[in-house]
Amino acid sequence: MEFNSYRNLKYKYSQLRKKVFDFAHKELAPLAPKIDKTDEFPERREFWKKLGKLGLLGLTVPKKYGGSDGSYLDHIIASEELVRACAAVGLSYGAHSNLCVNQINKTGNEHQKQKYLPKLCSGEQIGALAMSELNAGSDVISMKLHAELKGEHYVLNGNKFWITNGCDADVIVIYAKTSLDAPARHGFKTAQKMNKLGMRGSTTCELIFEDCKIPVENLIGQTGKGISLLMSGLDIERVIFSAVSIGVMQACCDSAFYHVNKPQPNGENISENQLIQAKIADMYTKLAISRSYLYTVARAADNNNLTTKDSAGVVLFCCERAVEVSNEAMQCFGAEGYLNSNVVGRYFRDAKLLEIGAGTSEIRRLVVGREINENYSKRRSKRT
Ligand SMILES: Cc1cc2nc3c(=O)[nH]c(=O)nc-3n(C[C@H](O)[C@H](O)[C@H](O)COP(=O)(O)OP(=O)(O)OC[C@H]3O[C@@H](n4cnc5c(N)ncnc54)[C@H](O)[C@@H]3O)c2cc1C
Repeated sequence: MEFNSYRNLKYKYSQLRKKVFDFAHKELAPLAPKIDKTDEFPERREFWKKLGKLGLLGLTVPKKYGGSDGSYLDHIIASEELVRACAAVGLSYGAHSNLCVNQINKTGNEHQKQKYLPKLCSGEQIGALAMSELNAGSDVISMKLHAELKGEHYVLNGNKFWITNGCDADVIVIYAKTSLDAPARHGFKTAQKMNKLGMRGSTTCELIFEDCKIPVENLIGQTGKGISLLMSGLDIERVIFSAVSIGVMQACCDSAFYHVNKPQPNGENISENQLIQAKIADMYTKLAISRSYLYTVARAADNNNLTTKDSAGVVLFCCERAVEVSNEAMQCFGAEGYLNSNVVGRYFRDAKLLEIGAGTSEIRRLVVGREINENYSKRRSKRT
């Protein structure tokens, strides 16, 4: 890349970051403690429209469908800054703009894109994606939701579990043992919202389908080809999800570095202790390395060069670092950090989800290891 175009890109990214930071700092951060405490976000629909106005809901979608024609890296930067203000809302944002919107944009047909994307990009509608089931999380291929073709409809029977935005969504991309859609409400209901340790205010729901009729025209892709669609969706999902860990780490660093540099009653700063300086250095470098790995992988995704081992590798690395950094942030505050009134407790609880949601650390390790082994065994068989 030439230096000038690199400089233009840098300018574009810093403008986007500033725009989202200013907005999130003013409109979201003040609401975050209440959202966490009450596990509710009553302003969600209004807030979504504001995100839509800023062009953040369809960052990776072409302008003709109401999107912003941006890159995955744009999406990551926006996500980081929203999460930095409130991780739960940032998580819901990712479920909407990546899992649902980007998936429809990537794999839907022209009619589906024209029908669903404009309202999802403007924030008039909220999106979600339903893949996991109670006994099909890590082993998602063993899902049981059944879609049976009956005339002009697929009839869905079964359940989905742990669905982010499930209680609020107007449009849901659904994986079944054949199909997808935005459910017609007949035969579809959401069960009670789940009471979570962290990411409170981002709704997580069970979806119940009882003879739920979905018009055949809503099928994304082709029947029988769902697994490759699901797998390619997972690669991007892992990359975008990694941004949540960067936002959480940044928030931890913001709070902890400020706190340890605050003058104490005895006139000394906690940061004067070398062991605290070591902690600061560890937190800072974990964040910087994670961000750097993520941006490299995001650029590969934007250039259609994403590998599964790096999509799983980056989410594995960044998310485990986020859990460590949130732990270190709490340690910097001492007993004060253990109080529910202190913000680092929220970061600590939010961070733990990162090692579980969008695939667990164990599964991410298996995916990385498997692809590396496949590459080496191919090379070996070429040599022999
Ligand atoms: C807050 C939240 C939001 C979510 N949002 C969504 C969403 O929007 N849409 C969606 O479809 N899903 C969503 N999920 C589901 C999420 O993707 C799953 O929870 C995740 O994939 C893990 O599945 P599981 O919970 O069933 O764990 P399990 O598969 O039951 O795993 C339990 C433990 O066993 C380990 N394990 C399982 N299999 C293996 C193996 N082969 N080798 C080694 N270890 C193994 C796991 O790593 C884990 O430690 C969400 C989950 C949460 C908590």
